[in-house]
Amino acid sequence: MPFESENPEHAIYDRRESEVRSYCRAFPISFDTAKGSRLIAEDGSEYIDFLAGCSTLNYGHNHDDLQKALIDYITSDGLTHGLDMHSAAKATFLNAFEQHIMKPRNLDYRLMFPGPTGTNAVEAAMKTARKATGRTNIIAFTNGFHGMTLGALAATGNAGKRGGAGIPLAGVVHEAYDGYFGPDIDTAEQLDIRLSDPSSGLDAPAAFLIETTQGEGGLNVASDAWLRKIAKIAKKHGALLIIDDIQAGIGRTGGFFSFERAGISPDIITLAKSLSGMGLPFAMTMIKPQYDDWKPGEHNGTFRGNNHAFITAAKSIELFWSDERFETEVMRKSALLEKRLEAIVATSPIANRTKGRGMMKGIEFLNGDLTSEICAKCFENGLVIETSGAHDEVIKVLCPLTITDEDLNEGLDILSKAIIEIEKSYAKTAA
Ligand SMILES: *Cc1c(COP(=O)(O)O)cnc(C)c1O
Repeated sequence: MPFESENPEHAIYDRRESEVRSYCRAFPISFDTAKGSRLIAEDGSEYIDFLAGCSTLNYGHNHDDLQKALIDYITSDGLTHGLDMHSAAKATFLNAFEQHIMKPRNLDYRLMFPGPTGTNAVEAAMKTARKATGRTNIIAFTNGFHGMTLGALAATGNAGKRGGAGIPLAGVVHEAYDGYFGPDIDTAEQLDIRLSDPSSGLDAPAAFLIETTQGEGGLNVASDAWLRKIAKIAKKHGALLIIDDIQAGIGRTGGFFSFERAGISPDIITLAKSLSGMGLPFAMTMIKPQYDDWKPGEHNGTFRGNNHAFITAAKSIELFWSDERFETEVMRKSALLEKRLEAIVATSPIANRTKGRGMMKGIEFLNGDLTSEICAKCFENGLVIETSGAHDEVIKVLCPLTITDEDLNEGLDILSKAIIEIEKSYAKTAA
């Protein structure tokens, strides 16, 4: 479908941009500015943002203090690019991260800056684990999403994405996530049995790679007990535990790290998306010191450590994570969200159940046709919201964590009305 616009400048999108473009097809408008949880299009129309860059904008668009810190840094000729050379900005970030994130949680990690995107952090994590163990195989999980470069893509479940690889994706096997076969089957237990059997055919793994709540895979939540079991099984079989906290971390499911509540201690942690605090490309792989087995420059790159992002990330950590206020506020808001989503599910014949955790919650519907109609209706009425899951059957609320109660409620009103409208036309076709 061509992009419809009165503005002749916009014909360029269809004329020149690759067919691979995706979100712009679901939200066929040209955006211009954004503030907090609101997006403003070039034609002046305004949208509440329940997508927030897939959890890249946890503190909202253009947060005043982050924006000011970045502008001050740029206008004082702060270093923009410096490969991975030491810089005042890097020291500021490392000190803020150590002081406000690692120290209070008693964490000891080496911080590695891979390339600037999430998939770079995952590639670095997988390489690190393979180096540390001398093993190849990595165990990822059903419905997992870890990125698009070949290593991370091998760990991603989605067949459509995997199909783009063009070569066989190797070195990863996919095991059943918590609850995959229903509540009565303990998938951790089954994994342990197979790893303990020298004839199971399952190669000894270098690592387990896990999302604690699956962002793209349909908001499946791993229980704390399952995570603890998996951590124990990893240790027992000499594998490292990698938590991919790129989407579920940085307050999205509560704490700074999504796994804190489970009380596990991952060997490697990946962060990206909201790490910069402002939507800048910035990723980090956290490695327990004993596994930081890299030779200088062995995993290199031009954009490793984004100085602008160092500044905004450090500022966001000071602003939001130097005490418990933000975390408490996120939990309060997530209870409000839960209540409203439960109310929708209780009355809608096309909704199955709520899914997810914290401010990473959504509703599972009967099928993916309904969700795409609901999201399109939401967009018509001023709400940007997306689907998730193997069949796009889940509508996912990923608003900024800083959203006001008014905007949260207004967005949920739009969602709720759209569901009622689609449900009516569904009842008609079903009758
Ligand atoms: C988004 C995401 C990635 C990949 O990050 P990119 O920046 O898109 O490369 C990896 N893991 C998880 C859990 C993600 O949500």
